[in-house]
Amino acid sequence: MSSLISKIQACQLQFLEESQVSSSEEARQALQKKYLKQILKELYADLKNVIDPAEKKTAGGLINQFRQELELAFSSDTAVSKVRQSEVFCDPTAIKMQFVRGHIHPLIHFTQKMEEVFINMGFSIVYGPEIEKEENNFEKLNIPLHHPARDMQDTFYIKGSDKLLRSHTSSVQIRTMENAKPPLKIISVGNVYRVDDIDAQHTPMFYQTEGLVVDKGIRFSDLKGVLIQFIKTVFGENIQVRFRPSYYPYTEPSAAVDMSCPICATQGCRTCKQAGWITILGAGMVHPNVFLSVGYDPKEVSGFAFGLGVNRLAMIYYQMAEIRGFYENDISLWASV
Ligand SMILES: [Zn+2]
Repeated sequence: MSSLISKIQACQLQFLEESQVSSSEEARQALQKKYLKQILKELYADLKNVIDPAEKKTAGGLINQFRQELELAFSSDTAVSKVRQSEVFCDPTAIKMQFVRGHIHPLIHFTQKMEEVFINMGFSIVYGPEIEKEENNFEKLNIPLHHPARDMQDTFYIKGSDKLLRSHTSSVQIRTMENAKPPLKIISVGNVYRVDDIDAQHTPMFYQTEGLVVDKGIRFSDLKGVLIQFIKTVFGENIQVRFRPSYYPYTEPSAAVDMSCPICATQGCRTCKQAGWITILGAGMVHPNVFLSVGYDPKEVSGFAFGLGVNRLAMIYYQMAEIRGFYENDISLWASV
């Protein structure tokens, strides 16, 4: 066998070996340059020096075959490279087309809407802990240990401590009054807990918003003005509001606040259970005992407080039949929101 034919065969073997260990794009490009530009050029130059015609023909055929093999190998490299480049170019668009952007939970959306109304009336938003001292949740709100109101607000107690999961956000009002002097104009918002079985209208955890205004000379008419303004801003100018006498340990006098049903305008429908009116708020003038428990002088200052269940109000706003919908992942429920 001539030396050139041996050389060609050695180059072919060498290429196979080098090709197997050259996977990166840079390595493939270097390999292509080496074999297509340098090695082939050398082999064709050697071919010119072969004198024997038969040997020249065989060697020439082998070099051509090797060149075709090289071209084929590197052409598939180019194809892969083009695919890679097109993937890099196209992928972000493909992802963008398939991406469905989420949105804020309707309950939070409604809460923010309410907060905005109160902020525009000059209220500040305050927050407090959900694990609360028992005295802040009950005693200081004029609900002593023996009081039957504790049954209505039964909650979850932390074993071996004086702490519980707050049953209302009124505890934040106590904390605020203990740390600040009047005048106060605050809204407290957050999760509260009750020992309620889950049904269409109840969950053991729900959202509550409560308001408190304390200053010299605050009257019941101030309370009425704020609540009527709030209800009409959220549900519409045509909504009627009425105050009925009620009882809460921490306010005196107290009132339950009804609004005319925004669905049927007092004609009676499923949402208002045919009553035409819906009770949405509890409110009243702050009880003197509450002021005394935080070191305020009830002869010096007066104030009003109100509280509402955000979930229940949001159910009316979104016309939902069940409170459970807020905590289930049925997105179709929110298609119209
Ligand atoms: Zn109705």
